[in-house]
Amino acid sequence: MVKAQTNGAKVAVSIFGATGSIGKNALDLIRRAPERYEIVALTAHRDGRKLAALAREHGARLAVLAEPEGYRELCEALAGSGIRTAAGREGLLAAAGEPADVVVAAISGAAGLEPTLAALAAKRRIALANKECLVSAGRLFMQAAKSSGAIVLPLDSEHNAVFQALMAGPHDAVDRITLTASGGPFRTYSAERIARAVPEEALRHPVWSMGAKISIDSATLMNKGLEVIEAHHLFGLPSARLDVLVHPQSIVHALVSFRDGTVVAGLSVPDMRMPIAYCLGWPDRHAWEAPRLDLAALATLTFEPPDLVRFPALKLARAVLEAGGAMPTVLNAANEVAVEAFLARRIGFPGIVAVVENALERAVSEGLREPATVEEALAIDHIGRSIARTLLPQFAAKAS
Ligand code: NAD
Ligand code: MG
Repeated sequence: MVKAQTNGAKVAVSIFGATGSIGKNALDLIRRAPERYEIVALTAHRDGRKLAALAREHGARLAVLAEPEGYRELCEALAGSGIRTAAGREGLLAAAGEPADVVVAAISGAAGLEPTLAALAAKRRIALANKECLVSAGRLFMQAAKSSGAIVLPLDSEHNAVFQALMAGPHDAVDRITLTASGGPFRTYSAERIARAVPEEALRHPVWSMGAKISIDSATLMNKGLEVIEAHHLFGLPSARLDVLVHPQSIVHALVSFRDGTVVAGLSVPDMRMPIAYCLGWPDRHAWEAPRLDLAALATLTFEPPDLVRFPALKLARAVLEAGGAMPTVLNAANEVAVEAFLARRIGFPGIVAVVENALERAVSEGLREPATVEEALAIDHIGRSIARTLLPQFAAKAS
């Protein structure tokens, strides 16, 4: 058993993607316990002003903007503060090198791969929210963690629940892992109604408030497909032993079934601060004003199998996991392009999965191999994006 940090020293935390939904939730927890945490590096995409405000509030040592265009604003807003600034790819890699106990990896998309791998190489403990990293380059990512000895704590709520439930028995006694899915905003919609869905509807998640990309992924159920791939890499089970169960209340996050028939589940109120608090406090558990689970008030928890006809993304992601090679990298890249195009109203809702499926078919003829290095992963990601972009006009949204 790993010992908790008991020497009174503060836990030094860096947050990649500090201005996003996960970043905000992490900073909310940190704000509540300034005696326990200190901020090392904070990063954001292009909002220099917002990043500067967070860096000042939390006394960060380094603030990094990924897109150099907002950099001047960041520098001006931090002038005289003593907070160092950096920008671009080099800036993100510098943030990974800063001495922190924990790096919250919460950049959205494959853009998080390189900085997160750099933090792994620097042997930081990673609180991993960025599932696209594992979809795009799962084997490479887990090998990098193994060779550096860095600890990867799953922050995604389902995987965090699995991580905790797995402690109930030896790994070779695990029979199956079940991830639950809320079912998203279109769970009860007909296929015909889903086909007409617009971004505003798809962004309105019934349970979770999240960034745009993951909200759309939740509406297509691609999110659960990405999570099955994520679970495969984190926990080493094949697709056939990774189940998905729709559970609209999102109270039970995951279940681990052991060979003796025992099932251990992870439950909590649906609040991302729960898994984030676990990752920040690990291996200890810190008290905070956590919302408490009241099962009597909830009274009913319901479960149903996922509908793979209305939500084909889940089936597609599973097929991609089974195919392996470069296909998961292409799946992730094409999905990122398709989601962005849907949000920009360039393609309709069913176009998302159609673009991904067609991109995968085209990629087969490219003869791509599974990425063994970060450069190879980024190159395949680039090809996947280019293929997906050429497909967008075919699935253009009909003017309504
Ligand atoms: P978000 O869109 O709210 O925030 C993303 C963050 O990453 C922002 O700080 C943004 O500035 C930064 N970013 C975006 N693109 C970037 C780029 N190209 N380069 C550098 N930085 C960039 O997203 P989110 O909802 O916080 O999700 C973040 C990650 O966590 C995703 O991988 C998501 O799948 C995962 N996750 C989120 C939740 C949730 O509840 N929000 C739950 C589980 C997992
Ligand atoms: Mg999740």
